[in-house]
Amino acid sequence: MKTQTPYTELMNRARTVALLHSCSSVLHWDQQTQMPKAGAAHRGEQLALLARLAHKEATDPKIRDLLIEAESEPCEADSFEAANLREFRHAFDRARKIPPRLVEELARATALANEAWAEARAAADFAKFRPHLETIVALKCEEAAAIGWSAHPYDALLDEYEPGASTAELRTLFAELSAGLVPLLQQLADAKQRPDRGVLERDYPIDRQRLFAESAAAAIGFDFRAGRLDTTTHPFCSGFGPGDCRITTRYNPRGFHEAFFGVLHEAGHGLYEQNLPAARFGEPAAQSCSLGIHESQSRLWENLVGRGRPFWDHFFPRLRQTFPTVADVDPDAFHRAINDVRPSFIRVEADEATYNLHIALRFELEQALVSGDLAVADLPAAWNARFRTLFGLEVPNDREGCLQDIHWSFGGLGYFPTYSLGNLYAAQFLRAARRALPDLDDAFRHGDFRPLAGWLAANIHSQGRRFRAARLCERVTGAPLSVAPFLDALRAKLVPLYGL
Ligand code: ZN
Repeated sequence: MKTQTPYTELMNRARTVALLHSCSSVLHWDQQTQMPKAGAAHRGEQLALLARLAHKEATDPKIRDLLIEAESEPCEADSFEAANLREFRHAFDRARKIPPRLVEELARATALANEAWAEARAAADFAKFRPHLETIVALKCEEAAAIGWSAHPYDALLDEYEPGASTAELRTLFAELSAGLVPLLQQLADAKQRPDRGVLERDYPIDRQRLFAESAAAAIGFDFRAGRLDTTTHPFCSGFGPGDCRITTRYNPRGFHEAFFGVLHEAGHGLYEQNLPAARFGEPAAQSCSLGIHESQSRLWENLVGRGRPFWDHFFPRLRQTFPTVADVDPDAFHRAINDVRPSFIRVEADEATYNLHIALRFELEQALVSGDLAVADLPAAWNARFRTLFGLEVPNDREGCLQDIHWSFGGLGYFPTYSLGNLYAAQFLRAARRALPDLDDAFRHGDFRPLAGWLAANIHSQGRRFRAARLCERVTGAPLSVAPFLDALRAKLVPLYGL
């Protein structure tokens, strides 16, 4: 029998865990798209078994020795092999620092909190959710302490979603982002030329919406021989592994933009999943780089390309052929409608500009909760006060305020900032792509999205987690992440559209 090196044994173990997780993903997808309601309890058993098996495999005490042995072997810097060991070590150490008791308590607390949150939100009654959130914040603080941190406890939580990112860096980015956005939004609010969203809220038959969105997803490179589009209440993208990536959306027969831009968004995530290094499936460095980088791929297609004029120079004539309801709409009015920017209460319905203020608000409040500067009991008042400052609006109730998102109920403190990181990375990546491929807009006007898709696949997708996000950004764009490309692109598009 051939003996395995410690490195290959570690990779085989990683692959086993990844296969177990991908089995869970199939079951989750099925639960959202196909499963009869009565199957929920049994599905819970199936998922719990897979989670137990994966956890056992990932925390096997033998891994410690294998890692020490593998790390003592020479390994080329910046190779996938070096990155595999770095990421294996990182995940293993992190998992072993969190006591199993805490993992169980968090699982129990979040299961209860999720139901309580749904009820509290429906009733717009924060008191129903408050004790659960108090428990979750306390447990997450315990988790941060167990993992360890040097500058801010929030760093330890952020690391789960955006490995290597720091609270201090993010604070600087968000301060710069808000400083650029607030005056721009004021300018747009005072503009005489306002978009008319009404053209998006007409009759758009669902079967045609699906075909139209599928044709756009295919045009940007989503491979339907290795993927599917289905319908769910909450849209998502799930990459099961090589050759199988599922995206979902939801349709509104009286609204074009929700499903269409939702599909572009999920297809952007899907392109990333479809172009990860397939032969390395399961290796720690063959997964996506971070949530921020993943989100950059969806936002790039949804907002920077999909809400751009060259994209619609190609698609607008097709839109008119498909939907008679827009026969009287001119392309300028349509372009303005899909770029309607205005303050609103709900994050998931926000435009690409104000969206980041929603995230800035959550980022500030999460830090204050974790550092103990803000008590959970005072969260609604803090939310409403900050919302007034950032948006100039009075929050009417907690359903449209601090109860709107699911994230805190599953313990996802540290998750929100990755959405804005996605916006920033997207703009910086696209700027670099434009430098390398100066004729991109011409290609878009002809419906050719392959040059950009190919550039993203080569520079970002196929790199997996070989480099951490900050390093990937420097390698691909030649500079550290900054807010300038995002703010510049936004101004360049919106200022003429609003006649400013
Ligand atoms: Zn996304």
